[in-house]
Amino acid sequence: MKRAWLITLLFAFNAVSVTAQPALEDALTKAGLVDVAALQAPLFFDIRYATPRNFTKQKIYDSPRCFLHKDAAQALLKAVELAAKQKEPFTFCLWDCYRPLSAQKKLWQAVPNPSYVAPPAKGSRHNRGMAVDLTPCDFNGTPLPMPTEFDNFTKRAHMDFYDLPPDVLNRRETLKKIMTQAGFTYTRTEWWHFDKTGWKTNHPVLDIELPL
Ligand SMILES: [Zn+2]
Repeated sequence: MKRAWLITLLFAFNAVSVTAQPALEDALTKAGLVDVAALQAPLFFDIRYATPRNFTKQKIYDSPRCFLHKDAAQALLKAVELAAKQKEPFTFCLWDCYRPLSAQKKLWQAVPNPSYVAPPAKGSRHNRGMAVDLTPCDFNGTPLPMPTEFDNFTKRAHMDFYDLPPDVLNRRETLKKIMTQAGFTYTRTEWWHFDKTGWKTNHPVLDIELPL
């Protein structure tokens, strides 16, 4: 009797979580966000905060999907176009896109240091769907050599660090140029992080969970 009750409860719980997924997608769509994997661009996804392969060594959210505000997604498509036109064409592997405020709180709990993580009270540009973390990669999805790995908080990750092998330096400068031309601004301390211009205007901090 007890076991049957437990099974019923598990079914009910499962039904709730399954039906909640389209509702999350709808809520994100209403907020102007789009599923980047549906854009049919040669992009690769290595969403690090859905794994322990990030500086916190913890999974920060469950879904390895990339949603961006449509303004940022449009600009990313422009960047893909520009990268494909380079003498040595490349594309991008995406590390982090939109993340809900709840994820920001977890990051802050792990590392309560404003030099590394935007405090939840302020919110991150990632919480607005207007920031993207990415690295150049080849068309098989293999990342190309860059100054550092993701979430490296040393000077080597700074945009004004120049003591790098020539190919790496060139690639970082090309990335910076392409992203700027596509409509992003860069961050001095993280070569992989780009904000879509205009992120402050009409792009509120969101706390909608990422759908699975
Ligand atoms: Zn970022």
